[in-house]
Amino acid sequence: MKTNEIMAMLQAKHPGENEYLQAVQEVLESIEDVYNQHPEFEKARIVERMVEPDRIYTFRVTWVDDRGNVQTNLGYRVQFNSAIGPYKGGLRFHRAVTPSMLKFLGFEQTFKNALTTLPMGGGKGGSDFDPVGKSDDEIMRFCQAFMLELWRCIGPDEDVPAGDVGVGGREIGFLDGMYRKLARQYNTGVLTGKGMTWGGSILRPEATGYGAMYFAHLALARIGKDLAGQRIALSGFGNVAWGAAKKAKQLGAKVVAISGPDGVCEIPGGITDEMIDYMLDMRASNRNKVEDMYVKYPGATKFTAGKKSWSVPVDIAFPSAFQNELSLEDARELKKNGCWAVFEISNMGCQADAIHWIQDNGMLFAPGKAVNAGGVATSGLEMTQNAEHISWTADEVDERLHHIMSAIHEQCVKYGTLPEGKVDYVKGANIAGFMKVAQAMLEQGLV
Ligand code: GLU
Repeated sequence: MKTNEIMAMLQAKHPGENEYLQAVQEVLESIEDVYNQHPEFEKARIVERMVEPDRIYTFRVTWVDDRGNVQTNLGYRVQFNSAIGPYKGGLRFHRAVTPSMLKFLGFEQTFKNALTTLPMGGGKGGSDFDPVGKSDDEIMRFCQAFMLELWRCIGPDEDVPAGDVGVGGREIGFLDGMYRKLARQYNTGVLTGKGMTWGGSILRPEATGYGAMYFAHLALARIGKDLAGQRIALSGFGNVAWGAAKKAKQLGAKVVAISGPDGVCEIPGGITDEMIDYMLDMRASNRNKVEDMYVKYPGATKFTAGKKSWSVPVDIAFPSAFQNELSLEDARELKKNGCWAVFEISNMGCQADAIHWIQDNGMLFAPGKAVNAGGVATSGLEMTQNAEHISWTADEVDERLHHIMSAIHEQCVKYGTLPEGKVDYVKGANIAGFMKVAQAMLEQGLV
């Protein structure tokens, strides 16, 4: 297999699908050497098969807004790879959603889910519906209309969606409510991220951010450092940044920046528990403005319009909002201001040239598919609890999450340790995830 040749073939087949092509290129670059040591993979054309989704559902979603106007959006579910288990992955509601974006996310999800140690395949879905400025009633009507189509494509042993950007507990509630009505099944675990009283797992809302901090803790411990006392920048203020801020604070780090599409909110004294709680109100308002944090806490914060979190001097940056949110220029600015590590919590949060620059300039870097895998891993734990008709305590879930994050870290170290002793977490995560999926595909024959 030659990465260049496969990429040329994919570019010709899927022109303009930039996020998807970027995600595939990153994985292929990392696995090329290992892959070529396995002629049995080449014979079964594993890579050519693995880069294409098993299937994609596309559907029209029609709903009525509060003014009585008829609205039409597009809905999708990309079922990427089921070699190690049912398709599993979130739903993204964002105005920029395209098949390319969901294919990149589904592809990444396949490897991420393989890293969790749980039997979950990879999938992703969503819609170009824009939740910004929508009322709760509009969100409910949209979710119901979306599920009218989606419910036929999913099932607890087939495909289990969850949240992602623009889809949190409220949306999962509306989606699951409609699924129950349509399927007449009330204990299915067909979605994860459910409410605590109706099948949800305790700690699932926090899990992505918690898992990311556990991973960072392990990576830092390996080089004799500690999260305590580090100044941290997060981006966004959604569910992921919220969980990350909570755990970072518990572990003694100081979160000094969060952000939104409108700019950055600096918190020189470090984020407080009340501010962390207020992030939930900010998301629920559907305003999508980080300036609201400054308006609420003007004495303790500073808002700068049009700037990103990466302009704030910090020790560690945690992109936690959207793909490609950290550019080469941002990486340079971070380093200039003293930052020495970047842990992606968002999926593909850094642009490809930024990752290369960060790694070449002696900074520690770990990719989203390892760092943020605690979210989907806890979804996997929710599926187990649903299947067994039980619920675990917070301590039980947290202990399993810890265990999974250290297993992920270990796999990265196993496959990513360079001759000089440093760990290339990109390589480690990609090779570990790839080997597991490739081996399963090989054993299952040409299907
Ligand atoms: N959207 C999350 C992710 O990117 C979670 C998916 C899930 O829980 O299924 O991994």
